[in-house]
Amino acid sequence: MRLANRVMNLTPSSTLAISAKAKALKKEGHDVIGLGVGEPDFNTPQYILDAANQAMQDGLTKYTPSGGIPELKKAIAKKFKKDNQLDYELDEIIITTGAKHALYTLFQVILNAGDEVIVPSPYWVSYPEQIKLAEGEPVFVHALEENDFKITPEQLEQSITNKTKALIINSPSNPTGMMYSKEELYALGEVCLKHNILIVSDEIYEKLIYTSDPHISIAQLSPELKAQTVVINGVSKSHAMTGWRIGYLAGPKGIVKAMTNHVSHATSNPTSIAQYAALRAYETDQDPTIEMRAIFKERLQTLYDLITTIPGITCRQPKGAFYLFPNVSGAIKQNGFQTVDAWVEALLEEVKVALVPGSGFGAPENVRLSYATSKEELVEAAQRIKHFVEKNQ
Ligand code: PLP
Repeated sequence: MRLANRVMNLTPSSTLAISAKAKALKKEGHDVIGLGVGEPDFNTPQYILDAANQAMQDGLTKYTPSGGIPELKKAIAKKFKKDNQLDYELDEIIITTGAKHALYTLFQVILNAGDEVIVPSPYWVSYPEQIKLAEGEPVFVHALEENDFKITPEQLEQSITNKTKALIINSPSNPTGMMYSKEELYALGEVCLKHNILIVSDEIYEKLIYTSDPHISIAQLSPELKAQTVVINGVSKSHAMTGWRIGYLAGPKGIVKAMTNHVSHATSNPTSIAQYAALRAYETDQDPTIEMRAIFKERLQTLYDLITTIPGITCRQPKGAFYLFPNVSGAIKQNGFQTVDAWVEALLEEVKVALVPGSGFGAPENVRLSYATSKEELVEAAQRIKHFVEKNQ
């Protein structure tokens, strides 16, 4: 059967292709180190597991309101107040099946065919595909590595057309780990206000910052910016809950209402048990991110120090998330390859280290290394990469 055009045009996930190959090699008995994963390697905290168990015992296993249970919405509103000094009413919040589904549904409800969304590049792989699935057009704005992979207000201004509907901001960023400062956000926000462009602020890595820079939500910078912004967040990265699939969006009521209507036909609601687990995550005084952050910070420094000693590889020091995004163009050339994809493939075949080529993120000179794995593995992986680069010179 001929499939729909909308799926024929989808780009397969670059992260999946490399992890499929890594898995196949592992199955054959090879000692593969995978630095491709995009999830914390910690288990969900016990008190959250207990809350899920309790929810099941209490019979909280039925459909919930499509936009999520009011208790969790209240807890999220409290979190916004405490962490971001933002006030949201409950009908300005929707709980979704992961932050990914918040973004997917958002594009479904705001985009008409041909509407443009500005996507700073390098970008998280799903943004362009989700925009295309909503018949929109991703418009890439190339953020320079010299500018820490951040776009400028001038670049933003130049990319705006009469079809521009929204701008995506992801700070801290996947894949670069970079963050916009308050001033930079304000300047981008001014341009969006001037042209009436919705700001889509993906703050999923909010809790994973390793410098003294505070996390700033663009929505907190002025009431006008708040009215022009949707904030996306979730428990996947902050509470090591990727598999539970709980995310959320806060923003203008009209958008939240349309999204709630949309999900009522798509998923009915996010999993009831997972919502109660997320409720505990937000209601407790315990903060699992303190420990995670300390471990990630140490690993980041270890990996950064080792990677930057490899000839042909340069790297800007990331501030958050759990990725390093080095420029490997020198190494690709020295090793005689044409593309980052070919270099990454050879690296996996020869020294059994799996990285994600930057091509899938719109950055063909870079690779993404995740440090959501043990320090021992990171040290070993860096040694293997060094060996590969030096041997093939
Ligand atoms: N946004 C970014 C930038 C991400 O990296 C991810 C996950 O990798 C998500 C959103 C989706 O997170 P969730 O697990 O809540 O769907």
